[in-house]
Amino acid sequence: MIVNTVPVRKGLVVVPASLTPADRSTDKRRLRKHAILNTLRKNAFISRADIAKSTGFNMRTTSMLIEELVRQGLVLEHDAMVTARGRRPTPLSLNVRAASVLGIDIGRNRTIGRLMDLGGELITEVELDTPAIDRPLKFANWARRTAHRTIEQAGPGIPPVCGIGAGIPDLVERDGKNSLFDKQRAAARIRGELMRDFDIEVLVDVDVRLMSLGSLWFGAGKNYRHFAVLKLGAGLGLGVVMDGVLVGGGLEQPMELGHIPMGDPEARCYCGALGCLENVASGIGIERMAREEGMPDPLAPAVAEAARAGNPAALRVFERFADGLGRAIATVVNLYAPEAIILSGRLTRAAELYTHRAREAASRHALANRLRRAELIVSDPNARLGALGSVSIVYDRIFHSHHVDVDEVI
Ligand SMILES: [Zn+2]
Repeated sequence: MIVNTVPVRKGLVVVPASLTPADRSTDKRRLRKHAILNTLRKNAFISRADIAKSTGFNMRTTSMLIEELVRQGLVLEHDAMVTARGRRPTPLSLNVRAASVLGIDIGRNRTIGRLMDLGGELITEVELDTPAIDRPLKFANWARRTAHRTIEQAGPGIPPVCGIGAGIPDLVERDGKNSLFDKQRAAARIRGELMRDFDIEVLVDVDVRLMSLGSLWFGAGKNYRHFAVLKLGAGLGLGVVMDGVLVGGGLEQPMELGHIPMGDPEARCYCGALGCLENVASGIGIERMAREEGMPDPLAPAVAEAARAGNPAALRVFERFADGLGRAIATVVNLYAPEAIILSGRLTRAAELYTHRAREAASRHALANRLRRAELIVSDPNARLGALGSVSIVYDRIFHSHHVDVDEVI
């Protein structure tokens, strides 16, 4: 039994509260305080008047809420500059050490634990080999061990932890039977175990959705309002951010781009269906096609190496992969009209082998105007978007309130 001596800060992560009339004024106050924190996150050393202007709240409300935030230790007041024309207004900033956020990214092979402060600065990171996990409880125990290892490594004196985000692989169940693939049960278990240990909010989602949030907060997605992240790993995953908000499906029903029937029509997918795109445009697809070509080592890294050396069979595999990826890109472009398509995941290490051809393939299928507007970006394979995303899902609940029905409370 692990004894919990971890400092925590409760109540900073906004979860939809009860919307009874009695709660509304509290909720309204609370969401307004979070809007102020977000303004300060984006602009350090601004005055109360600037905050009022930026949030649209009146001066009296703004000042009152800021007093509360200062008392709570979330906002810092700095010395005002004195100029020849008199004293300037007091500059304010977000106290980034008022709390920290813990992220856990459980990949098929590697697990990363990451602790960051409120300003997005890394405090510590651990990287572990993911053990063989075949039951939701094992998932939960592994998440718990990673959480404690990360906190332990960070040492004493860390800002109190205010929330935990956890990413799990997006595996599709086979005929709804295999408990390994039961994401909801795994997520519920992880949440239960971590909440019991830490007594703070725990948010769990599938990896590609978290990668999209990681991209929005820390990666190429920062520059766009609408974008899609395609995760090219063992499978083919999709996360979509529209107007700065992660959309679609959620943990229960994430968008399964890999299982739309645009692959080889006769190829049987592990999900049980025929013609899934994942059997072409993914690591699994590369392995299947390399076997068909009779390659001795059909795993993606070996096939990529062979393709770089000019091996014709390996080149054919990557051509088919690129064509499949092009169909995936065209589909996403036609459905969402994103400003950018961000390719991520392990297979981006071989991006030079397929991006050109994938773009060409996409142009055969996509609406020309939309495709022209969509930038194709290959994210840095070492950027750790998944781990960043597991922290970002918590930031998203601290600084944004789109997940709360604001109309009901403001
Ligand atoms: Zn499938």
